[in-house]
Amino acid sequence: MPLRFGHIAGDRVLLTSPSGEYAVLPRTKFEDFICGRLDHESPEYFDLKARHFLTHTSSATLLRVLASQIRTKKEFLRGGPKLHIFVPTLRCNQSCGYCQASRANADAVGFDMTKTVASRAIDLMLSSPSPAVTMEFQGGEPLLAFDLVRWMVTETKKRAADSKTVSYVICTSLNLLNDEHLSFFKEEGVFVSTSLDGPAAVHDKNRPLAGPSSHSAAVRNIRRCQEALGEDRVSALMTTTRHSLSKGKEIVDEYIRLGQRSIFLRELNPYGYAAKTTKSIGYTVPEFIRFYRETLNYIIDINRKGTFFAEGYASILIKKIITPFGVGFVDLQSPTGEGFGVVLYNHDGAVYASDEARMLAEMGDRTFQLGTVNDRYLDLFLGETMQQLAAAGCAEALPGCADCVYVPYCGADPIRHYRTQADLIGHRPTSSFCNKQTEIFKLLFELLNDSSQEVVNILVSWIVPTRRQMPKPSWQFQ
Ligand code: SF4
Repeated sequence: MPLRFGHIAGDRVLLTSPSGEYAVLPRTKFEDFICGRLDHESPEYFDLKARHFLTHTSSATLLRVLASQIRTKKEFLRGGPKLHIFVPTLRCNQSCGYCQASRANADAVGFDMTKTVASRAIDLMLSSPSPAVTMEFQGGEPLLAFDLVRWMVTETKKRAADSKTVSYVICTSLNLLNDEHLSFFKEEGVFVSTSLDGPAAVHDKNRPLAGPSSHSAAVRNIRRCQEALGEDRVSALMTTTRHSLSKGKEIVDEYIRLGQRSIFLRELNPYGYAAKTTKSIGYTVPEFIRFYRETLNYIIDINRKGTFFAEGYASILIKKIITPFGVGFVDLQSPTGEGFGVVLYNHDGAVYASDEARMLAEMGDRTFQLGTVNDRYLDLFLGETMQQLAAAGCAEALPGCADCVYVPYCGADPIRHYRTQADLIGHRPTSSFCNKQTEIFKLLFELLNDSSQEVVNILVSWIVPTRRQMPKPSWQFQ
Protein backbone atom coordinates (compact mmCIF):
# COMPACT_ATOMS: atom_id res chain seq x y z
CA MET A 1 0.00 0.00 0.00
CA PRO A 2 1.18 3.59 -0.44
CA LEU A 3 3.48 4.78 2.34
CA ARG A 4 6.21 7.25 3.22
CA PHE A 5 9.16 6.52 5.46
CA GLY A 6 11.99 8.26 7.27
CA HIS A 7 14.86 7.22 9.52
CA ILE A 8 14.58 8.02 13.20
CA ALA A 9 16.86 7.58 16.20
CA GLY A 10 17.95 4.10 17.27
CA ASP A 11 18.46 2.82 13.71
CA ARG A 12 14.71 2.59 13.21
CA VAL A 13 12.35 3.61 10.44
CA LEU A 14 9.08 5.49 10.83
CA LEU A 15 6.38 4.65 8.29
CA THR A 16 3.24 6.69 7.67
CA SER A 17 0.27 5.95 5.47
CA PRO A 18 -1.59 8.65 3.49
CA SER A 19 -4.33 8.61 6.14
CA GLY A 20 -1.86 9.14 9.00
CA GLU A 21 -1.51 5.59 10.39
CA TYR A 22 2.04 5.06 11.60
CA ALA A 23 4.40 2.24 12.50
CA VAL A 24 8.00 2.05 13.69
CA LEU A 25 10.26 -0.79 12.54
CA PRO A 26 13.89 -1.68 13.23
CA ARG A 27 15.84 -0.93 10.06
CA THR A 28 16.46 -4.59 9.26
CA LYS A 29 12.74 -5.43 9.52
CA PHE A 30 11.93 -2.44 7.33
CA GLU A 31 14.33 -3.72 4.67
CA ASP A 32 12.70 -7.17 4.90
CA PHE A 33 9.28 -5.57 4.49
CA ILE A 34 10.26 -3.47 1.47
CA CYS A 35 11.96 -6.46 -0.19
CA GLY A 36 8.94 -8.72 0.43
CA ARG A 37 10.88 -10.93 2.87
CA LEU A 38 8.99 -10.19 6.06
CA ASP A 39 7.99 -13.37 7.89
CA HIS A 40 4.21 -13.78 7.56
CA GLU A 41 4.02 -15.08 11.13
CA SER A 42 5.96 -12.19 12.66
CA PRO A 43 4.31 -9.57 14.90
CA GLU A 44 5.58 -6.84 12.54
CA TYR A 45 3.75 -8.46 9.64
CA PHE A 46 0.42 -8.54 11.51
CA ASP A 47 0.89 -5.01 12.77
CA LEU A 48 1.60 -3.64 9.29
CA LYS A 49 -1.37 -5.51 7.87
CA ALA A 50 -3.70 -4.23 10.57
CA ARG A 51 -2.59 -0.68 9.84
CA HIS A 52 -3.10 -1.09 6.09
CA PHE A 53 0.58 -0.83 5.17
CA LEU A 54 0.45 -4.07 3.23
CA THR A 55 -1.98 -6.27 1.40
CA HIS A 56 -1.74 -9.40 -0.69
CA THR A 57 -4.58 -8.53 -3.00
CA SER A 58 -5.59 -5.50 -5.03
CA SER A 59 -8.84 -5.44 -3.11
CA ALA A 60 -11.04 -2.47 -3.98
CA THR A 61 -12.51 -2.77 -0.48
CA LEU A 62 -9.17 -1.97 1.11
CA LEU A 63 -8.74 1.06 -1.12
CA ARG A 64 -12.22 2.20 -0.16
CA VAL A 65 -11.23 1.90 3.53
CA LEU A 66 -8.14 4.03 2.88
CA ALA A 67 -10.20 6.59 0.95
CA SER A 68 -12.67 6.77 3.80
CA GLN A 69 -9.84 7.31 6.32
CA ILE A 70 -8.45 10.15 4.20
CA ARG A 71 -11.94 11.66 3.89
CA THR A 72 -12.26 11.63 7.70
CA LYS A 73 -8.88 13.36 8.10
CA LYS A 74 -9.88 16.06 5.62
CA GLU A 75 -13.34 16.55 7.09
CA PHE A 76 -12.38 20.11 8.08
CA LEU A 77 -12.82 21.13 4.42
CA ARG A 78 -16.57 20.57 4.52
CA GLY A 79 -18.63 23.74 4.74
CA GLY A 80 -15.85 26.23 4.01
CA PRO A 81 -14.29 28.57 6.56
CA LYS A 82 -15.59 28.15 10.09
CA LEU A 83 -13.53 30.86 11.74
CA HIS A 84 -14.61 34.38 10.77
CA ILE A 85 -12.30 37.07 12.15
CA PHE A 86 -13.54 40.64 12.38
CA VAL A 87 -11.27 43.65 12.96
CA PRO A 88 -13.61 46.30 14.39
CA THR A 89 -10.65 48.65 14.88
CA LEU A 90 -6.94 48.73 14.24
CA ARG A 91 -6.44 51.14 17.14
CA CYS A 92 -4.66 49.88 20.24
CA ASN A 93 -3.48 51.34 23.54
CA GLN A 94 -0.42 49.06 23.83
CA SER A 95 2.80 49.01 21.84
CA CYS A 96 3.97 45.40 21.91
CA GLY A 97 7.31 44.74 20.23
CA TYR A 98 5.91 41.64 18.54
CA CYS A 99 2.62 43.16 17.34
CA GLN A 100 1.77 41.41 14.08
CA ALA A 101 -1.10 43.71 13.18
CA SER A 102 0.81 46.99 12.69
CA ARG A 103 -1.70 48.66 15.03
CA ALA A 104 -2.69 52.36 15.00
CA ASN A 105 -2.55 54.68 18.03
CA ALA A 106 -5.52 54.57 20.39
CA ASP A 107 -6.70 58.06 19.39
CA ALA A 108 -6.03 57.70 15.65
CA VAL A 109 -8.86 58.46 13.25
CA GLY A 110 -9.98 56.37 10.28
CA PHE A 111 -9.15 52.92 11.63
CA ASP A 112 -12.60 51.78 12.81
CA MET A 113 -15.04 49.60 10.91
CA THR A 114 -18.29 51.33 9.93
CA LYS A 115 -21.66 49.72 10.62
CA THR A 116 -22.21 49.39 6.86
CA VAL A 117 -19.02 47.34 6.48
CA ALA A 118 -19.81 45.33 9.62
CA SER A 119 -23.29 44.56 8.35
CA ARG A 120 -22.01 43.28 4.99
CA ALA A 121 -19.35 41.20 6.75
CA ILE A 122 -21.97 39.60 9.00
CA ASP A 123 -24.05 38.71 5.93
CA LEU A 124 -21.01 37.09 4.33
CA MET A 125 -20.31 35.05 7.45
CA LEU A 126 -23.91 33.89 7.57
CA SER A 127 -23.74 32.89 3.86
CA SER A 128 -21.16 30.26 4.76
CA PRO A 129 -22.46 26.72 4.16
CA SER A 130 -21.10 25.64 7.53
CA PRO A 131 -23.86 25.08 10.12
CA ALA A 132 -21.58 26.33 12.92
CA VAL A 133 -19.14 29.24 12.76
CA THR A 134 -17.00 31.21 15.20
CA MET A 135 -17.13 35.02 15.13
CA GLU A 136 -13.83 36.26 16.55
CA PHE A 137 -13.06 39.90 17.27
CA GLN A 138 -9.44 40.93 16.92
CA GLY A 139 -7.65 44.22 16.64
CA GLY A 140 -6.07 46.46 17.41
CA GLU A 141 -7.86 46.36 20.71
CA PRO A 142 -11.53 45.52 20.10
CA LEU A 143 -12.59 47.02 23.45
CA LEU A 144 -11.71 50.44 21.96
CA ALA A 145 -14.65 49.82 19.60
CA PHE A 146 -16.88 48.13 22.15
CA ASP A 147 -20.13 49.77 20.95
CA LEU A 148 -19.55 48.32 17.50
CA VAL A 149 -18.68 44.87 18.90
CA ARG A 150 -21.89 44.91 20.95
CA TRP A 151 -23.93 45.94 17.90
CA MET A 152 -22.35 43.20 15.78
CA VAL A 153 -23.06 40.44 18.30
CA THR A 154 -26.65 41.57 18.78
CA GLU A 155 -27.20 41.94 15.03
CA THR A 156 -25.66 38.52 14.27
CA LYS A 157 -27.91 36.85 16.83
CA LYS A 158 -30.93 38.47 15.22
CA ARG A 159 -29.95 37.51 11.68
CA ALA A 160 -28.65 34.00 12.41
CA ALA A 161 -31.71 33.10 14.49
CA ASP A 162 -31.96 29.30 14.30
CA SER A 163 -30.24 28.91 10.95
CA LYS A 164 -26.67 28.78 12.24
CA THR A 165 -24.82 28.22 15.48
CA VAL A 166 -22.46 31.12 16.13
CA SER A 167 -19.84 31.15 18.89
CA TYR A 168 -18.37 34.48 19.93
CA VAL A 169 -14.76 35.12 20.99
CA ILE A 170 -13.11 38.43 21.77
CA CYS A 171 -9.31 38.63 21.68
CA THR A 172 -8.38 41.46 24.02
CA SER A 173 -5.50 42.55 26.22
CA LEU A 174 -8.20 43.18 28.89
CA ASN A 175 -6.49 46.32 30.16
CA LEU A 176 -9.57 48.44 29.28
CA LEU A 177 -12.02 45.96 30.82
CA ASN A 178 -14.95 47.43 32.76
CA ASP A 179 -18.14 46.10 34.35
CA GLU A 180 -20.20 46.94 31.28
CA HIS A 181 -17.98 44.73 29.12
CA LEU A 182 -18.15 41.91 31.66
CA SER A 183 -21.91 41.87 31.94
CA PHE A 184 -22.21 41.96 28.15
CA PHE A 185 -19.83 38.98 27.79
CA LYS A 186 -21.79 37.11 30.42
CA GLU A 187 -25.24 37.82 28.99
CA GLU A 188 -24.28 37.09 25.40
CA GLY A 189 -21.99 34.09 26.03
CA VAL A 190 -18.86 35.73 24.64
CA PHE A 191 -15.61 33.86 25.32
CA VAL A 192 -12.52 35.86 26.22
CA SER A 193 -9.08 35.15 24.78
CA THR A 194 -6.29 37.26 26.20
CA SER A 195 -2.52 37.52 26.15
CA LEU A 196 -0.30 36.48 29.01
CA ASP A 197 3.38 36.04 28.30
CA GLY A 198 4.30 34.79 31.77
CA PRO A 199 5.41 36.48 34.98
CA ALA A 200 5.80 40.26 35.17
CA ALA A 201 9.48 40.16 34.22
CA VAL A 202 8.61 38.70 30.81
CA HIS A 203 5.12 40.07 30.19
CA ASP A 204 5.95 43.72 30.92
CA LYS A 205 8.99 43.61 28.64
CA ASN A 206 6.95 42.15 25.79
CA ARG A 207 3.78 44.14 26.29
CA PRO A 208 4.60 47.60 27.63
CA LEU A 209 1.74 49.82 28.72
CA ALA A 210 2.04 53.52 29.37
CA GLY A 211 1.91 53.91 33.18
CA PRO A 212 1.18 50.82 35.26
CA SER A 213 2.47 47.27 34.73
CA SER A 214 0.52 45.57 31.94
CA HIS A 215 1.11 42.28 33.76
CA SER A 216 -0.72 43.34 36.91
CA ALA A 217 -3.61 44.67 34.78
CA ALA A 218 -3.73 41.40 32.82
CA VAL A 219 -3.69 39.23 35.97
CA ARG A 220 -6.28 41.35 37.76
CA ASN A 221 -8.60 41.29 34.77
CA ILE A 222 -8.15 37.58 34.03
CA ARG A 223 -9.30 36.95 37.61
CA ARG A 224 -12.26 39.32 37.17
CA CYS A 225 -13.29 37.48 34.00
CA GLN A 226 -12.91 34.10 35.69
CA GLU A 227 -15.09 35.20 38.59
CA ALA A 228 -17.74 36.78 36.40
CA LEU A 229 -17.81 34.31 33.50
CA GLY A 230 -16.32 31.08 34.89
CA GLU A 231 -12.80 29.74 34.42
CA ASP A 232 -13.64 27.88 31.23
CA ARG A 233 -14.70 31.05 29.43
CA VAL A 234 -11.31 32.75 29.64
CA SER A 235 -8.17 31.52 27.94
CA ALA A 236 -4.72 33.04 27.69
CA LEU A 237 -2.15 32.94 24.91
CA MET A 238 1.58 33.50 25.18
CA THR A 239 4.05 34.58 22.52
CA THR A 240 7.65 33.46 22.86
CA THR A 241 10.25 36.20 22.55
CA ARG A 242 13.97 36.21 23.33
CA HIS A 243 12.98 37.26 26.88
CA SER A 244 11.01 34.01 27.31
CA LEU A 245 13.70 31.55 26.29
CA SER A 246 15.21 31.03 29.75
CA LYS A 247 11.89 31.37 31.57
CA GLY A 248 9.86 28.35 30.43
CA LYS A 249 9.25 27.07 33.98
CA GLU A 250 8.26 30.47 35.33
CA ILE A 251 5.85 31.01 32.42
CA VAL A 252 4.15 27.64 33.02
CA ASP A 253 3.98 28.28 36.79
CA GLU A 254 2.29 31.62 36.14
CA TYR A 255 -0.36 29.95 33.96
CA ILE A 256 -1.05 27.35 36.63
CA ARG A 257 -1.21 30.05 39.33
CA LEU A 258 -3.94 31.72 37.27
CA GLY A 259 -6.02 28.57 36.99
CA GLN A 260 -5.23 27.88 33.32
CA ARG A 261 -5.27 24.23 32.26
CA SER A 262 -3.13 24.59 29.19
CA ILE A 263 -0.60 26.78 27.47
CA PHE A 264 0.23 27.18 23.79
CA LEU A 265 3.98 27.72 23.34
CA ARG A 266 3.67 29.99 20.33
CA GLU A 267 6.62 31.25 18.35
CA LEU A 268 6.91 34.75 16.85
CA ASN A 269 5.31 35.35 13.49
CA PRO A 270 7.31 37.07 10.74
CA TYR A 271 4.72 39.84 10.22
CA GLY A 272 4.00 43.39 11.37
CA TYR A 273 6.22 44.93 14.04
CA ALA A 274 7.53 41.45 14.87
CA ALA A 275 9.32 41.49 11.51
CA LYS A 276 11.02 44.78 12.40
CA THR A 277 12.03 43.79 15.93
CA THR A 278 13.52 40.39 15.11
CA LYS A 279 17.00 41.50 16.11
CA SER A 280 16.00 42.48 19.64
CA ILE A 281 13.34 39.87 20.46
CA GLY A 282 13.82 37.12 17.86
CA TYR A 283 15.69 33.80 18.00
CA THR A 284 16.77 30.95 15.77
CA VAL A 285 14.80 27.74 15.20
CA PRO A 286 17.26 25.67 17.34
CA GLU A 287 16.86 28.20 20.19
CA PHE A 288 13.08 27.92 19.99
CA ILE A 289 13.22 24.11 19.84
CA ARG A 290 15.46 24.01 22.94
CA PHE A 291 12.95 26.22 24.77
CA TYR A 292 10.03 24.10 23.54
CA ARG A 293 11.66 20.80 24.53
CA GLU A 294 12.66 21.96 28.01
CA THR A 295 9.29 23.54 28.71
CA LEU A 296 7.39 20.52 27.39
CA ASN A 297 9.42 18.23 29.66
CA TYR A 298 8.64 20.50 32.60
CA ILE A 299 4.91 20.36 31.76
CA ILE A 300 5.05 16.56 31.58
CA ASP A 301 6.69 16.50 35.03
CA ILE A 302 3.90 18.66 36.42
CA ASN A 303 1.35 16.17 35.09
CA ARG A 304 3.34 13.32 36.62
CA LYS A 305 2.95 14.99 39.99
CA GLY A 306 -0.82 14.98 39.59
CA THR A 307 -1.76 18.35 38.04
CA PHE A 308 -3.52 18.25 34.68
CA PHE A 309 -1.89 20.83 32.42
CA ALA A 310 -1.56 20.53 28.63
CA GLU A 311 0.64 22.08 25.95
CA GLY A 312 -1.59 23.18 23.07
CA TYR A 313 0.71 22.67 20.08
CA ALA A 314 1.70 19.15 21.16
CA SER A 315 -1.98 18.36 21.78
CA ILE A 316 -2.88 19.34 18.22
CA LEU A 317 -0.10 17.24 16.72
CA ILE A 318 -0.73 14.23 18.96
CA LYS A 319 -4.41 14.29 18.02
CA LYS A 320 -3.37 14.28 14.37
CA ILE A 321 -0.92 11.42 14.95
CA ILE A 322 -2.96 9.02 17.05
CA THR A 323 -6.58 9.62 16.07
CA PRO A 324 -8.34 9.23 12.72
CA PHE A 325 -9.51 12.85 12.86
CA GLY A 326 -8.16 16.07 11.43
CA VAL A 327 -7.86 19.08 13.68
CA GLY A 328 -8.37 22.10 11.48
CA PHE A 329 -5.57 24.17 13.00
CA VAL A 330 -4.98 26.72 10.23
CA ASP A 331 -1.17 26.67 10.23
CA LEU A 332 -1.09 22.89 9.94
CA GLN A 333 -3.77 22.21 7.40
CA SER A 334 -3.44 20.64 4.00
CA PRO A 335 -5.08 21.98 1.90
CA THR A 336 -4.08 25.16 3.66
CA GLY A 337 -6.41 26.67 6.24
CA GLU A 338 -5.99 30.10 4.61
CA GLY A 339 -9.36 30.85 3.07
CA PHE A 340 -10.40 27.20 3.53
CA GLY A 341 -10.67 27.32 7.32
CA VAL A 342 -10.53 31.00 8.13
CA VAL A 343 -11.42 34.36 6.62
CA LEU A 344 -10.84 37.88 7.95
CA TYR A 345 -12.94 41.03 7.48
CA ASN A 346 -10.77 44.09 8.01
CA HIS A 347 -11.91 47.42 9.46
CA ASP A 348 -11.74 49.02 5.98
CA GLY A 349 -13.95 46.39 4.31
CA ALA A 350 -11.15 44.35 2.75
CA VAL A 351 -11.53 40.55 3.03
CA TYR A 352 -8.39 38.47 3.53
CA ALA A 353 -7.64 34.76 3.43
CA SER A 354 -6.31 34.81 7.00
CA ASP A 355 -5.00 37.03 9.76
CA GLU A 356 -1.50 36.62 8.28
CA ALA A 357 -2.82 37.83 4.90
CA ARG A 358 -4.16 40.93 6.65
CA MET A 359 -0.84 41.45 8.47
CA LEU A 360 0.95 41.30 5.14
CA ALA A 361 -1.48 43.86 3.70
CA GLU A 362 -0.78 46.19 6.65
CA MET A 363 2.87 45.92 5.54
CA GLY A 364 1.84 47.11 2.06
CA ASP A 365 1.33 43.81 0.23
CA ARG A 366 -2.28 42.92 -0.61
CA THR A 367 -1.49 39.72 -2.54
CA PHE A 368 -3.84 37.65 -0.39
CA GLN A 369 -6.82 39.98 -0.35
CA LEU A 370 -9.80 37.93 -1.55
CA GLY A 371 -11.92 40.99 -2.30
CA THR A 372 -14.12 43.28 -0.25
CA VAL A 373 -17.26 42.88 1.81
CA ASN A 374 -19.21 44.09 -1.23
CA ASP A 375 -18.30 40.97 -3.21
CA ARG A 376 -20.46 37.87 -3.39
CA TYR A 377 -19.51 34.91 -1.17
CA LEU A 378 -18.75 32.64 -4.12
CA ASP A 379 -16.67 35.29 -5.88
CA LEU A 380 -14.52 35.65 -2.76
CA PHE A 381 -13.99 31.94 -2.20
CA LEU A 382 -13.66 30.81 -5.82
CA GLY A 383 -11.64 33.81 -7.00
CA GLU A 384 -8.12 33.94 -8.38
CA THR A 385 -6.45 34.42 -4.98
CA MET A 386 -8.09 31.30 -3.60
CA GLN A 387 -7.05 29.39 -6.73
CA GLN A 388 -3.43 30.42 -6.08
CA LEU A 389 -3.64 29.40 -2.43
CA ALA A 390 -5.20 26.07 -3.37
CA ALA A 391 -2.49 25.38 -5.94
CA ALA A 392 0.30 26.03 -3.44
CA GLY A 393 -1.53 24.85 -0.35
CA CYS A 394 -1.65 21.07 -0.68
CA ALA A 395 1.39 19.76 1.21
CA GLU A 396 1.06 16.25 -0.22
CA ALA A 397 1.91 17.72 -3.65
CA LEU A 398 4.70 20.13 -2.69
CA PRO A 399 8.39 19.51 -3.40
CA GLY A 400 10.00 18.31 -0.18
CA CYS A 401 6.71 17.60 1.58
CA ALA A 402 5.46 15.07 -0.98
CA ASP A 403 8.07 12.54 0.19
CA CYS A 404 8.17 13.55 3.84
CA VAL A 405 7.12 10.98 6.42
CA TYR A 406 5.45 13.70 8.51
CA VAL A 407 3.22 15.11 5.76
CA PRO A 408 -0.02 13.43 6.97
CA TYR A 409 0.22 15.61 10.10
CA CYS A 410 1.80 18.75 8.68
CA GLY A 411 0.58 21.76 6.69
CA ALA A 412 1.54 23.91 3.74
CA ASP A 413 1.21 27.56 4.94
CA PRO A 414 1.78 29.23 1.54
CA ILE A 415 1.40 32.77 2.94
CA ARG A 416 4.21 32.25 5.43
CA HIS A 417 6.45 30.86 2.69
CA TYR A 418 5.56 33.77 0.43
CA ARG A 419 6.55 36.10 3.28
CA THR A 420 9.76 34.34 4.31
CA GLN A 421 10.93 32.87 0.99
CA ALA A 422 9.20 35.09 -1.58
CA ASP A 423 7.48 32.02 -3.02
CA LEU A 424 4.11 30.48 -2.20
CA ILE A 425 5.42 26.94 -2.57
CA GLY A 426 8.70 27.60 -0.78
CA HIS A 427 11.91 25.65 -0.39
CA ARG A 428 11.60 23.16 2.48
CA PRO A 429 15.30 22.52 3.22
CA THR A 430 15.75 26.22 4.09
CA SER A 431 12.25 26.87 5.46
CA SER A 432 12.13 27.84 9.14
CA PHE A 433 8.57 26.48 9.23
CA CYS A 434 9.76 23.08 7.97
CA ASN A 435 12.82 23.04 10.24
CA LYS A 436 10.68 23.73 13.28
CA GLN A 437 8.04 21.18 12.27
CA THR A 438 10.62 18.46 11.64
CA GLU A 439 12.19 18.94 15.07
CA ILE A 440 8.85 18.97 16.89
CA PHE A 441 7.66 15.84 15.06
CA LYS A 442 10.90 14.08 16.00
CA LEU A 443 10.42 15.09 19.62
CA LEU A 444 6.81 13.90 19.75
CA PHE A 445 7.50 10.56 18.07
CA GLU A 446 10.40 10.11 20.49
CA LEU A 447 8.01 10.75 23.41
CA LEU A 448 5.30 8.48 22.01
CA ASN A 449 7.66 5.59 21.25
CA ASP A 450 10.46 5.75 23.77
CA SER A 451 8.86 7.04 26.98
CA SER A 452 7.17 5.19 29.79
CA GLN A 453 3.48 4.29 29.53
CA GLU A 454 2.89 6.99 32.14
CA VAL A 455 4.22 9.71 29.81
CA VAL A 456 2.22 8.37 26.86
CA ASN A 457 -0.92 8.39 29.02
CA ILE A 458 -0.23 12.01 29.95
CA LEU A 459 0.14 13.03 26.31
CA VAL A 460 -3.05 11.20 25.35
CA SER A 461 -4.96 12.80 28.24
CA TRP A 462 -4.32 16.20 26.64
CA ILE A 463 -6.49 15.37 23.64
CA VAL A 464 -9.44 14.03 25.61
CA PRO A 465 -11.70 16.92 26.53
CA THR A 466 -12.22 16.83 30.27
CA ARG A 467 -14.50 19.82 30.51
CA ARG A 468 -16.44 22.15 28.28
CA GLN A 469 -14.06 23.62 25.74
CA MET A 470 -14.08 27.15 24.46
CA PRO A 471 -14.82 27.68 20.81
CA LYS A 472 -11.47 27.66 19.21
CA PRO A 473 -9.86 31.01 18.46
CA SER A 474 -7.43 31.33 15.59
CA TRP A 475 -4.32 30.54 17.56
CA GLN A 476 -5.80 27.37 18.87
CA PHE A 477 -7.96 24.76 17.15
CA GLN A 478 -10.26 25.91 14.39
S1 SF4 B 1 6.91 21.21 5.97
FE1 SF4 B 1 8.72 19.93 6.34
S2 SF4 B 1 8.06 18.59 8.05
FE2 SF4 B 1 6.21 19.43 7.14
S3 SF4 B 1 5.60 17.90 5.59
FE3 SF4 B 1 6.82 19.47 4.55
S4 SF4 B 1 8.88 18.60 4.52
FE4 SF4 B 1 7.73 17.51 6.11
